[in-house]
Amino acid sequence: MKQVPLLDLRREYEYMKEDIDSCINKCLEHQRWVLGPEVKELETKIAEYLGTDHCIGVASGTDALVISLRALAVKLKGKEYFDTTDEIITTPFTFTATGEAILRAGAKPVFVDIARDTFNIDTSKIREYLSSGDSSKVVGVVPVHLFGQSCDMDEISKIAKEYNLFVVEDVAQAFGGKWRDRKLGSIGDAGAFSFFPSKNLGGFGDGGMISTQDNQIADIARMLLMHGGKGKFDATYVGYNSRLDSMQAAVLLAKFKYTDELNNNRRKIAQVYEAGLSEISGLTFPVALPDAYHVYHQYTIRIADNKRDSVQESLRQKGIGTAVYYALPLHKLKVFDGRAILANKLEQAEKASREVLSLPIEPLLSEEEQQLVCESIKEVC
Ligand SMILES: *Cc1c(COP(=O)(O)O)cnc(C)c1O
Repeated sequence: MKQVPLLDLRREYEYMKEDIDSCINKCLEHQRWVLGPEVKELETKIAEYLGTDHCIGVASGTDALVISLRALAVKLKGKEYFDTTDEIITTPFTFTATGEAILRAGAKPVFVDIARDTFNIDTSKIREYLSSGDSSKVVGVVPVHLFGQSCDMDEISKIAKEYNLFVVEDVAQAFGGKWRDRKLGSIGDAGAFSFFPSKNLGGFGDGGMISTQDNQIADIARMLLMHGGKGKFDATYVGYNSRLDSMQAAVLLAKFKYTDELNNNRRKIAQVYEAGLSEISGLTFPVALPDAYHVYHQYTIRIADNKRDSVQESLRQKGIGTAVYYALPLHKLKVFDGRAILANKLEQAEKASREVLSLPIEPLLSEEEQQLVCESIKEVC
């Protein structure tokens, strides 16, 4: 039976093998494993690509979020951490790390429901929360560009300005995505990227990056990622060992050259799926906003009437890889119990978690494989 994988990293490696091997070989030659030349080169290249003044390599996307938020606490409050009374608005329909990073930076997450069509935070609900109570406790927003699609950054920037909030974009799933003509990660006060292997730009292990236009945030972030000091032995803040490895930077430099091409492939596969599946009733397809350049980290459909799990099982039997992101919204996780505010009923997030199914969006899928996915879904739906 022909299998269609959700993602096939081996295939991508084969496609870029010469570039990747030669970058890794350079590391073997120079043996500068920590803060070698590849890290600086990657930071410079990505900053240029995003159009930001600074990019700072870190050990993971989670650390990129934590360090950005803590740098903002230092900048805005002169304190190493936020207070538990400081509120940071985010979405409950995201990976755990988004909410966890807010807690680790000392603040309280406020979960605001998502919009039905985009899976991203509903900006009208942000406004509702801010105008309903004591908005002075809210210090910032962490919008997540989920599945590769931008949040409404016009509206989020406007709200942030009105209420004097910072914005840290969670760009873990949207490397190369855009809002209008601006790359994601270049719009807020900072952007947090993940290079986890399955992300649109992924390394051979963990890695992450902070982007910012703000010199002060950049300076503090660089201190925090190396034990909180400017030099090796003069720690000022409680910091981390959160450097990006030279080896990861080398792999990422090689893969970075292919990112736009592969993102474009993802967009084409999305078109094939939408055309091939449009006649099936009971399915809802991802909506691509006209102002967003969607990079389809996931191609996530909705299946109504509690049929999601049985459809997933039937597809599994046919060799079609799928996944459920996310089976539980964050406010259902024990770790956020009593530690977060639920701004409203979060009905859309809960409904999404029952209906979503992500289809194979490996950017090197053959046309035959794409057709097989469509045919298999037609058979089981
Ligand atoms: C992957 C991911 C992260 C965390 O990135 P890591 O590199 O795994 O630490 C954060 N937020 C979102 C939305 C993610 O998908």
